[in-house]
Amino acid sequence: MKNNCKLFFLAIIVLYLFIFINAQQQQATQAKPTPSPITVSQVKADIYEVKGGSGANCGFFIGEKEVMVIDAKMDAESAKQMIAEIKKLTPKPIKYVLLTHSDGDHVNGLTGFSQDITIIAQQQTRKDMDEAFKEPQQRLYLPGLTFSERLKIYSGNKVIELLYFGPAHTSGDVVVYFPDEKVAFIGDLFFRGRDPLIHRQKNGSSFGLVNVLREILKLDADTFLNGHSDPASKADIEGLIKSIEEKQSKIKALIQEGKSLDEIKKVFNVEDRPTQPGGRRWMSLVEVIYLELTEKK
Ligand SMILES: [Zn+2]
Repeated sequence: MKNNCKLFFLAIIVLYLFIFINAQQQQATQAKPTPSPITVSQVKADIYEVKGGSGANCGFFIGEKEVMVIDAKMDAESAKQMIAEIKKLTPKPIKYVLLTHSDGDHVNGLTGFSQDITIIAQQQTRKDMDEAFKEPQQRLYLPGLTFSERLKIYSGNKVIELLYFGPAHTSGDVVVYFPDEKVAFIGDLFFRGRDPLIHRQKNGSSFGLVNVLREILKLDADTFLNGHSDPASKADIEGLIKSIEEKQSKIKALIQEGKSLDEIKKVFNVEDRPTQPGGRRWMSLVEVIYLELTEKK
């Protein structure tokens, strides 16, 4: 009888462990969804956009003698898949990777590229990457060429302009502008259907973002490729500026009425929680604006 009892409890413990481990495994697989396949679409002439895989949308340009890639996906595997897609279209070598900013979903795939590429970034983006890239293998992929405000790259007769207009989404956001095709890659300076993300820890700024978007509107371009949505038009960018400015002036008025940050968040129905349990909390635009308006200069 005693032995039977022991066996029974043992069985219960084994069953419990089985359920527990299974649940843990399920959680682990849920946390890592398999990325969608890489797709390439022609935007205009020799300019292509790459979607899918892990990380943000990327792009590439097939020049006279070489290929330039814009942003590098989030892991080496996705970067290699993107490179394989490029090789299906051209035998020309990838010579440059141009970075729009330092976020991991745009730069962590650099290790999937050959080491002899030239990586170009705004100098502040290199500084942020220098802090983030800890592994020796990653450090081989710190940008080798930086600039402060403007850099022109020539490919045959064609010019590609890298433009920096000041801190916005991060402190080193670059616009990659193709004047002949009227196309610009603007990284995460544009978000669709949600508030823009501002990284205060990287010296990003909502007022800076409005200034930068106004500069982008001055470009002679009609197609604005971006990290996380379909290509934007000038009207889309104007709409984004308007929505940020409306929030800024409403939050300013609420601060003047003496409202606290929590009260203001309630007005906007903002829940500042991590998207996944235990995950990172992305600061809402409302909080960013509040902090910008109340910080002592
Ligand atoms: Zn970003």
